[in-house]
Amino acid sequence: MRSEPAALVLVGPSGAGKTTIARRVVASRPDRFVFSVSATTRRPRPGEEHGREYLFVSRADFGAMVAGGELLEHAEVHGDHYGTPLAGIRRAGRRAPVLDIDVQGAAQVLRHGVGACVIFIVPPDVAAWFDRLGGRGTESPSQIVRRLRTSLGELGGAPGFECFVVNDALDQAVADVLAHWRGAPPSRIGAPEAAALCRDLEAGARAEIARLRALGGSAAAERASGHAHGARVEDS
Ligand code: ADP
Ligand code: 5GP
Repeated sequence: MRSEPAALVLVGPSGAGKTTIARRVVASRPDRFVFSVSATTRRPRPGEEHGREYLFVSRADFGAMVAGGELLEHAEVHGDHYGTPLAGIRRAGRRAPVLDIDVQGAAQVLRHGVGACVIFIVPPDVAAWFDRLGGRGTESPSQIVRRLRTSLGELGGAPGFECFVVNDALDQAVADVLAHWRGAPPSRIGAPEAAALCRDLEAGARAEIARLRALGGSAAAERASGHAHGARVEDS
């Protein structure tokens, strides 16, 4: 049996369930895992706390962290900056940090050669994915369009990964992630099937972006003519 990797890294499109799975993994074995709290320049969502979900920092402070070599990896996602503080990794001690990061960050972690187990989380189908993206209720339509656009890049990066877990039933997804962590082959979903699923999700995302943009256009036209208020979908 191989020794366990140094870190567990979850990637995948926004709304795939990375954060939910990461929190469940940590809750299942707090003696073995610790959530890696990223630094970000994005604003907190309602209910989020500095130091729990993220370290919410200014752009200047984030720039200083980058310049000072304080981040294991960092990337720009949805127009904001995100990065993994090395201090949190060091504080993890013997526990494995669980990173919920984007594909650019995962590539940097792999380049560092820290022995990470990287798993690409895939939503089970387009309908469930959109329900989860919208169901979080924290994003405006324009933000959802922006997230879907970023997700196109994440889904396009899927062929660069080896391990995939479909997040259909949450308990099963958590069990699959833990099985991968322990090195259990094979994936419940192979790379070719995962690639095909990601292509379906990409097609769905493109159609949804077009739909939301068309809605935004008609809402803007209504406002311009003095009619109803609609959700504005900006071309962000
Ligand atoms: P991500 O971190 O990938 O953006 P989240 O973990 O924030 O995704 O999950 C997005 C939404 O989907 C949340 O409201 C979460 O509760 C829900 N969710 C996650 N996994 C499942 C699942 N297996 N079944 C149903 N809902 C889920
Ligand atoms: P959210 O704003 O929804 O919490 O996260 C947006 C995206 O940023 C998600 O894809 C998430 O995985 C990614 N992200 C969060 N923290 C980090 C980080 O430290 N580094 C990188 N590269 N991406 C991150």
